[in-house]
Amino acid sequence: MTYIHKTISDLKHSSPAQAEFYQAVEEVLDSLEPILESSACYQQQAIIQRMVEPERQIMFRVPWMDDNGNIQVNKGYRVEFNSALGPYKGGLRFHPSVNASIIKFLGFEQIFKNALTGLAIGGGKGGANFDPKGRSDAEIMRFCQSFMSELYRHIGPTTDVPAGDIGVGAREIGYMFGQYKRLTGRYEGVLTGKSLLWGGSLVRKEATGYGAVYFADYMLADRGDSLKGKKCLVSGAGNVAIYAIEKLYQLGAVPVSCSDSRGALYHEKGIDLVLLKQLKEECSECLDKYLETHSDAKYVPVADYPEDGNAVWRFTAEAAFPCATQNELSETDAQALIANGCVVVSEGANMPSTAKAVDVFIEAKIAYGPGKAANAGGVATSQLEMAQNASMQSWTFEKVDERLKEIMKNIFDTANNTATEFGQPGNLVFGANIAGFKRVADAMIEQGIV
Ligand code: GLU
Repeated sequence: MTYIHKTISDLKHSSPAQAEFYQAVEEVLDSLEPILESSACYQQQAIIQRMVEPERQIMFRVPWMDDNGNIQVNKGYRVEFNSALGPYKGGLRFHPSVNASIIKFLGFEQIFKNALTGLAIGGGKGGANFDPKGRSDAEIMRFCQSFMSELYRHIGPTTDVPAGDIGVGAREIGYMFGQYKRLTGRYEGVLTGKSLLWGGSLVRKEATGYGAVYFADYMLADRGDSLKGKKCLVSGAGNVAIYAIEKLYQLGAVPVSCSDSRGALYHEKGIDLVLLKQLKEECSECLDKYLETHSDAKYVPVADYPEDGNAVWRFTAEAAFPCATQNELSETDAQALIANGCVVVSEGANMPSTAKAVDVFIEAKIAYGPGKAANAGGVATSQLEMAQNASMQSWTFEKVDERLKEIMKNIFDTANNTATEFGQPGNLVFGANIAGFKRVADAMIEQGIV
């Protein structure tokens, strides 16, 4: 049994029943053979065994009272995965699907994503199995305060800096920041994704979506092509999807779809972004209301969709931006995209394509940007927020956007050049995994056995 297979099989034994975590680990380790062969030190130093084990995992009870006076209990998590390159950095996800496997897969991805940005940030992730859907503002506040009443003792601006993810936006960050400040008496950059009124950074809200589109444009430029005039499928209807759609329009592309957990929306003429933003403010999971304004659009409810995967990927387009959630794009979806002429896929979400879907993209040799490279613009801009907080400055929109573009270009170049160097030109999964691994592994070796 090879070193890699043994590590995976030991992991399945020591951390049972964590399917998403194994998927994320296997995807990275599958790429590492050439670099492990190039230098014996990684194996001698047990780097892979050390990397798959989080430095620290915190699990805690989050009790809170709902508006009817009933006591609710949720599970809270923070996984501090790897601090070789800097303070733990990564978002908090509030979603009913959250469990230890989901948080560990996200934390593991975050290590390599953060390494690829070239910035000084380690990897972490957290969240709770709390469902914000249908909860009042007062309930959200009480939940966030209870969550922070435990988390505050584990985080700090130079130790662990959480941010948002699914279900956690500026409002939740605000309530958590308020509670942190109340408990510690400190006003400091302990969270990113803050409001612009009190320490947030311009472009942070837009950064993940914009970054995924910049990344697609860099992939295409390398192939002598561009996004201009291309029909693009986008999934999701949250922050990432909305700002991917906005940037696609700015670059002359035509985004024709979006989706939520209830259904997929397709509008041949191009998604009406003003209306989409308005629907997001007014109601949740209500994309079908779009048809009240645009009767020429099409809506496919999830309940009516007979196949696995997501109806959004069955429409015809040249580009795809999965911006919803993990494993939302199946092998058959990937085959349908290729058969319909899709030439570029750039992932705004974390691990949205299943392992088999990724194989289809690599096999077809289309331009495929895996999430850990293509969606790194969000966390990179969080680091720019940390830099502004630490130096008590706020930068202009143009300055932050310029930095974001540069970072996305660097990530593309690093992944692309590494893929070529290790013998698989054009394979950015392989290139991103090796480049991310190398930076973290070399730092770990220099810092000794800790
Ligand atoms: N949740 C985002 C991600 O998946 C952002 C994390 C951050 O800004 O720290 O990368």
